[in-house]
Amino acid sequence: MSLLDRHRAVMPGWMPVYYGDDALEIVSGSGRRVTDAGGRTYLDFFGGVLTTMIGYDVAEISDAVRAQIGTGVAHTSTLYLIRQQVELAEKIARLSGIPDARVFFTNSGTEANESALLMATNVRRSNQILAIKNSYHGRTFATMAVTGHRSWSSSSLSPLSVNWLASADRLRGRMAGLNDADLLDAAVDDLREVLATVTAGDVAALIAEPVQGVGGFVHGPDGLLGAYRKVLAEHGILLIADEVQTGWGRTGDHFWGYQAHGVTPDLITFAKGIGNGFALGGVVGRAEVMNAVPAVSFSTFGGNPVSAAAGNAVLDYVLDHDLQGNARRVGGILLGGLRALSYGILAEVRGRGLMIGLEFVRPGTTEPDPAVTLRVFDLCREGGLLVGKGGLYGNVLRIGPPLTLTEDEAREGLAILSGAIATADAES
Ligand code: PLP
Repeated sequence: MSLLDRHRAVMPGWMPVYYGDDALEIVSGSGRRVTDAGGRTYLDFFGGVLTTMIGYDVAEISDAVRAQIGTGVAHTSTLYLIRQQVELAEKIARLSGIPDARVFFTNSGTEANESALLMATNVRRSNQILAIKNSYHGRTFATMAVTGHRSWSSSSLSPLSVNWLASADRLRGRMAGLNDADLLDAAVDDLREVLATVTAGDVAALIAEPVQGVGGFVHGPDGLLGAYRKVLAEHGILLIADEVQTGWGRTGDHFWGYQAHGVTPDLITFAKGIGNGFALGGVVGRAEVMNAVPAVSFSTFGGNPVSAAAGNAVLDYVLDHDLQGNARRVGGILLGGLRALSYGILAEVRGRGLMIGLEFVRPGTTEPDPAVTLRVFDLCREGGLLVGKGGLYGNVLRIGPPLTLTEDEAREGLAILSGAIATADAES
């Protein structure tokens, strides 16, 4: 029996999501490349959904983790002082841009967001949260409620959804001649309209991804969160930035995604890349909010010594090697190469640093085309390149390689991607 058959016999039916009948078993990795059980090596432009931020088997990270395991100490984080954890918290607090910042750790992005929502709702004594349409914040009760989809709202939270003209909506807006300033005004008007439907003081927080990840690497117009903030401040509403995909320099021009918006959030959540594959997430936020709800901010394994050791090594690597600068430079090569392509199926190339989205449509229309997107995705894999797919309509390819991607690797991947798009376009 194949591993896929064994998987299907024992795990939920929809898994594994990505390659269906062609599911890959990755058995090893090195740098920006992974090798499957059949011995084929791929260039990885998705980094395990942006988790392998430094790359595979990078000595500095692997050695730090091995050293921690070598001490024999891998225990709960609630019992003792953990030096690795305190050191990591100090670094993140300093980098957060939040004065008087406090940090605590979780095992995942979902837990980080769940905790931030719990803190905000407790501090503001309200269960109302503003969610951006087409967001993704995790798979727990509260985090699934704040996706901006009514269908998910069957939880204890009652989210209000705000439309920042994401994805295909935004594309339609652009094609109808709306520029970023128009889009920003429309989004702020929408927020005001939503707030007009609730009693003042009833809303605890707005949660937003500075660049939507699962939604298809969509960034709202620059300054949008800052413009929101002015409205939120009138109502005493907290701002939570979900930096699970955008943090640590991925977007190139900034260390955090929120910095493109001229605003400092009250709470920032993080995960994914900071562990480079080890389970690590957390929240950094204003002391006033973070200190208010003690019960929320600890868990058995959040920030355990092994994950915290990985986190320290990752963050040191990011800073010592200026990976933000690399994301800007190498991301610029990719963006430039992709924007130079001209094919009917490719409606938009958007992105920041090493977080790039390609939106595919039926030529000459704004109709999302998930089938052609899948074809490009499959052709990339056949060519030896792993990319991500997603977007609300399944018509976005997502490119989020490790931040250590070299210029040569960028050009190699670009060639495979361009060839795949050309083939799919010719076939359509
Ligand atoms: N927030 C964002 C923006 C994400 O992209 C994700 C995961 O994809 C999450 C939260 C959930 O993180 P995790 O899967 O680590 O729980």
